[in-house]
Amino acid sequence: MDPYRGRFAPSPTGPLHFGSLVAAVGSYLEARSRDGLWLVRMEDLDAPRTQPGAADAILRTLEACGMGWDGSILYQSRRSETYRAALARLEAKGRVYACGCSRKEIADSGLAPDGALIYPGTCRNGLAQGKAERAKRVRVDDARIEFEDALQGPMRQNLATEAGDFVLRRADGLHAYQLAVVVDDAEQEITDVVRGADLLASTPRQIFIQRLLGLPSPRYLHLPLAVNAAGEKLSKQTLAPPVDERNPVPALAQVLVFLGLSPPQALWQSTPPEFWNWAISNWTLERIPRRLSLPAP
Ligand code: GLU
Repeated sequence: MDPYRGRFAPSPTGPLHFGSLVAAVGSYLEARSRDGLWLVRMEDLDAPRTQPGAADAILRTLEACGMGWDGSILYQSRRSETYRAALARLEAKGRVYACGCSRKEIADSGLAPDGALIYPGTCRNGLAQGKAERAKRVRVDDARIEFEDALQGPMRQNLATEAGDFVLRRADGLHAYQLAVVVDDAEQEITDVVRGADLLASTPRQIFIQRLLGLPSPRYLHLPLAVNAAGEKLSKQTLAPPVDERNPVPALAQVLVFLGLSPPQALWQSTPPEFWNWAISNWTLERIPRRLSLPAP
């Protein structure tokens, strides 16, 4: 088997909070308990959503948590040439078309499981007279994708009815997350993706692009998503508090509890190295609730 290469890929839209810490800790523990590598990638592609200083703050918090990463950090904001080349390869295969529809024009389309609009295919056979290109989309045809999630079990999706032809380059000229994540997971030779279950519905689109580009598919494990009392994903918008970088161990221990482990009382007051010592040797997938979301503490 290939040596394990995991990753944590935060979007620097704000400081690390409990929700993003779950993805960081879960991916870190899977990697370290398998003697694997753990890489970090800054998903700062979406400049309008990126908060100045957040990337450095996230890295500082990871360091304060005692979570050292391997290799150098990949910054998506520096890789648009590589995404452009990948898009060109898909275009050469005749899978990509220009779309001139505005959000308003597709607003009454069906909804994908992640809330995205399912594009009705209006521009699939060419732009209508008088319409200018806005985005680039990939034609999914009748692709049906199946994969085994290491925690959530067997998954399948019919891309045509559950995702639709999706955007690879946005109307604002930025490459879409779905394209960048595939190119970057391949670039970093990631063998195992561990992340929140909010991305479960995106995985078939990513596998689809991997296959079109002839790239290997990593294994996937989607952790329960931490939600607040209203059932909303923890985020800056839902006012999730940042992890306290002067005293991060209690938050780390809370993540273990969230993921089904029972850390001993003394661990809450331990140092980060003591914490990881216990966490790595007691880590098991068996105890993680097989749920898509769970209330955060
Ligand atoms: N950047 C994404 C996020 O913070 C995660 C992407 C991924 O893990 O594939 O939600």
